[in-house]
Amino acid sequence: MHVFTTAADLQSFVEASRRAGRRLGLVPTMGALHDGHLHLVQAAAADCDDVVASIFVNPTQFNNPDDLRLYPRLPEQDTALLAGAGCTTLFMPDVAEIYPQPTVLRFDFGPLERVMEGAHRPGHFNGVATVVSKLFHMARPHRAYFGQKDFQQVAIVRQLIADLSFDLELVVAPTVREADGLAMSSRNRRLSPEARAAAPLLHQVLTQAAGQVRQGVAPTEVQAQALATLAQEPQFTPEYFEVADAQTLQPLARYEAGRAVVLCVAAHLGGVRLIDNVVVE
Ligand code: AMP
Repeated sequence: MHVFTTAADLQSFVEASRRAGRRLGLVPTMGALHDGHLHLVQAAAADCDDVVASIFVNPTQFNNPDDLRLYPRLPEQDTALLAGAGCTTLFMPDVAEIYPQPTVLRFDFGPLERVMEGAHRPGHFNGVATVVSKLFHMARPHRAYFGQKDFQQVAIVRQLIADLSFDLELVVAPTVREADGLAMSSRNRRLSPEARAAAPLLHQVLTQAAGQVRQGVAPTEVQAQALATLAQEPQFTPEYFEVADAQTLQPLARYEAGRAVVLCVAAHLGGVRLIDNVVVE
């Protein structure tokens, strides 16, 4: 596996790879890798000749300094996991390599970012769109792999690709979960044993709510019951639970035939912020 820390080295590698007619897949990550990330790498390895994985804890997408400071960093372990999963090229830049100067350009995704993560984490999607654009330019992939775990991020990246005419295909992979339903996340490492024991409630609430959506229970009622169930567990502080249109991400007043619904939740659990979602077709 090649390991590059500079954009110039990565770019000369991917240019040579493209000239040789090889297909490139990109898997952007922030490291502290788990099976969710490795599933994306395996999917890329099945489709592409070269798989570039990036590990970069992107400061501009963190709106909480403690979250950035405490974000787990395990470069050696990650390198070994990536090599075993079929990654051919690891890009591990430092902050100065990605941000030689502060960026001035600001992204505005309109209604897509006025809800959920965008509403609760000001500047988050500007940081995501900035770093994803830079990685697309540096890695020049034919395909880029993202997880449904970050549902709103996928919608933002889809819009970014369309609006800026990035010549690549977006591939979205399903959320990989622990046996008890908890969505895998690098932040799960920070959960205390007590918080970890309570954590599966997040997915249970989503599954219960998905059943209610299928039965036609009104969106506001589904939302109220989900928030009430989370509030019963003293370790949880719910931030939001939304019943939204899966395309526009706007909260639903009522269901429309033929339109998929997404249920998205964010909650704090023992000082760790977790998100999860379920799509109801
Ligand atoms: P992160 O390192 O958290 O920025 O995530 C890197 C990529 O892995 C993103 O596209 C995430 O959506 C995806 N990802 C994170 N957790 C999971 C999971 N449990 N299942 C599938 N993909 C995931």
